[in-house]
Amino acid sequence: MTAKPVVAREKIALLRASFLAKLPSRLEQALQLHQLVFNTYEAPAPSAAPSAAAELHRLLHSLKGTGATLGLRALAEEAARGEIIAILIADDLTLATPATGAEIYACLASLMDLVQAARAQAEAPTEAGRVREEITAPAFDLSHQPLSSDTAAGNEKPRVIFLCDDDKTLVDHLSAQLQCFNYQSVTFSDPDELRATLAHHPAHAIVMDIVFPGDESAGTNAVMTLNRDLVERVPTVFISARNDFDARLRAVRAGGAAYFSKPVDVMALVACLDALTIHKEPEPYRVLVIDDEPEVAMFHAHILEQAGMVVRLLHGHDTVLAELDDFHPDLVLIDLYMPQCNGRDLAQVIRQIPRWISLPIIFLSSETDKTKQFSAIRIGAEGFLTKPVLPAELITAVAVRSERMRDLRSLMVRDSLTGLFNHTTTTQMLENSLAVTNRLNKTLAVVMIDIDRFKLVNDTYGHIVGDQVLVALARILRERLRTSDIIGRYGGEEFAVVLRDVFLEEAIRIMDIIRHDFSQLRFHHNGVDFNCSFSAGISLSSREKSLIFLRSEADRALYQAKHEGRNRIVAATSS
Ligand code: GH3
Ligand code: MG
Ligand code: MG
Repeated sequence: MTAKPVVAREKIALLRASFLAKLPSRLEQALQLHQLVFNTYEAPAPSAAPSAAAELHRLLHSLKGTGATLGLRALAEEAARGEIIAILIADDLTLATPATGAEIYACLASLMDLVQAARAQAEAPTEAGRVREEITAPAFDLSHQPLSSDTAAGNEKPRVIFLCDDDKTLVDHLSAQLQCFNYQSVTFSDPDELRATLAHHPAHAIVMDIVFPGDESAGTNAVMTLNRDLVERVPTVFISARNDFDARLRAVRAGGAAYFSKPVDVMALVACLDALTIHKEPEPYRVLVIDDEPEVAMFHAHILEQAGMVVRLLHGHDTVLAELDDFHPDLVLIDLYMPQCNGRDLAQVIRQIPRWISLPIIFLSSETDKTKQFSAIRIGAEGFLTKPVLPAELITAVAVRSERMRDLRSLMVRDSLTGLFNHTTTTQMLENSLAVTNRLNKTLAVVMIDIDRFKLVNDTYGHIVGDQVLVALARILRERLRTSDIIGRYGGEEFAVVLRDVFLEEAIRIMDIIRHDFSQLRFHHNGVDFNCSFSAGISLSSREKSLIFLRSEADRALYQAKHEGRNRIVAATSS
C-alpha cells in the first residue's frame, strides 16, 4: 500500500480521460447509425440498415464494457440500457419503430451529457466534485507482490556456506565437492569460532556437525544460541554420525532445516542447499492482450504488469500471427467483440496453427449471456471473464493458466531426469544459434560429451546410482556454463553443449575445467566411494560447416578422446 495505488489511480485517470476524449465522435457515429436504422420506418428498410443495426449494437456493447472497466458506472449503465434494445433490433429489424428509435436516441443523448459532465469534472476536479464523483475509481488495491522479477542466471556469484565439523578430512572433502556446485565454504572446527565469525561475515547457509569433542550437543546448542541472537536466521543443515531420534529431535528444536547422517550424500546435500539458498523467481508470464479499445487494453495490461507480468498490446488482428512468433506469449487475452474480426474467429485462426494449438486463450467481454460464453469456450478458449473484471480475478485467471502452459511446454522440451533440454529441442536450438552466429560472423562450439564406462557404473552400483551421476553432470554443466549456452541431454549418458560466441581455445579451456571438476566428484553407494569421468569432442563452427558436419566432427573428436584413453577433451582437427 505504498506509492503504487496512487500511480495506478493516476494511470487509470489518464486512460479514462483518453477514452472520454474519443467518445463525442463515437457518439456522433452512433447517431449516424441511428439515422440509417430509423430514418424510414416504412418498408422496405434501407439496404444498409441491417449492418448499421449490428454496428450500433456493437458500439453500445463496447461502451458498456469499457465504461464499466474504467469505472464510469453511470455511463456503462446508460449504454447497457441502449444495448438491450439495440440487440433486439439487430436480430429483427421490424422492431425498429418510432418508439424504439426514440428510446435509443434518448440513450445516446444522455450518454453525450454524461461524457460532457465527466470531462468537465476530470478537467476541474474540485473538492466538492470529488465527493460526488460519478466516475468512481474501481475499488481495488494494485500493490500486489510481483509474481516474478529477475530471470534465472546460470553463473552467479558463489554462495557462502559456513561449514563446521571437527573432522578435518570430512571438512576438506565436503568443501571441495560443494565448490563444484558454486558453494564457497568457510570452514570451522569449533562452533564458537563459527558464531564469532558470523557476527561480521554473512553466510547463505550453515552446515553443522552435532557432536564435538567433549560435548555431545555442541552443534545444536551453538545454532540455538545463534538463532536467538541473529535478527535474520541463517538456514542450517545438521550433519552427524548419530542417526538416532534424540539427535534428530535436538536438530529440529535448534531450528535445523535438514538432517544428514554421515557419510553425507553430497548430491543430496547440494540439492538441499540449493532449495535453501537459491530463490530463483520464475520468468515473468508473457501475455498478449488483443482489444480494439486501447483504453481497455491498457487498463488490463496495467493490472497484469503490476502483478509482474510482461504484456504486449494489439488493437487489431492484422499482425497477430507475427506478434505471436515474435513475443511467444504464455497466454492471449482477447476481447470477444471487435470490428472486422471478432474474438471467436481470431481464436480459431490461432488454434489452426499447430504450434499455437495449446496456447491458452481467455476471452474478455461484457457479454453476460451464458450461451454465448459457452459457445466461445467450445471453440477451445480456456476461459471467459466478464467485464468489468476484478483485478485479482484477472491476475489469478492469467497466472494459473500461464503456469500450466509453462509446465506443459517444459514437459515437451526438457528431459525429465536432468531438467536439461531434450534431444529435439537441443537440435532445434543449435540450428537457430548456428544461423544467428553465422549471420553475425561469430563462432560457436559444439561439444559432445559422453560419460566414461557408464555401463560399469550401472552394473556395479545399479541404475538409480547411475541416474544420480547423470544428474550430477547436468548440475555441474548448468552451474558452470552461461545462461546463453545451450545444454542438452542428447540421449542416454550423452550430453550436447553449445557454447555461443567463443573461440576454440576458450571452449577447450572451459570444458577442461568442467571435466576436471566432474572427475573429482565422489559418489557413494553402500559405503563405497567412486568417481566418474567423461570424454568430450569439440567442433568449432564456420560459415562453411553445415549443422550435420559440425555434429559429426564433434562426434569423431569424442570417439578419438575415448580411443586415447577417456577423461579428456579433444578438438576436431579441422577446427
Ligand atoms: P564408454 O566409455 O565407451 O562411453 O563406455 P560406456 O559404458 O559409457 O558406454 P556404453 O554405450 O556401452 O554404455 C552406456 C550405458 O548407459 C548403457 C546404458 O544402460 C546406460 N544408460 C543410458 N541411459 C541411461 C539412464 O537414463 N540412466 C542410467 N542409469 N543409465 C543409462
Ligand atoms: Mg555412450
Ligand atoms: Mg559412455
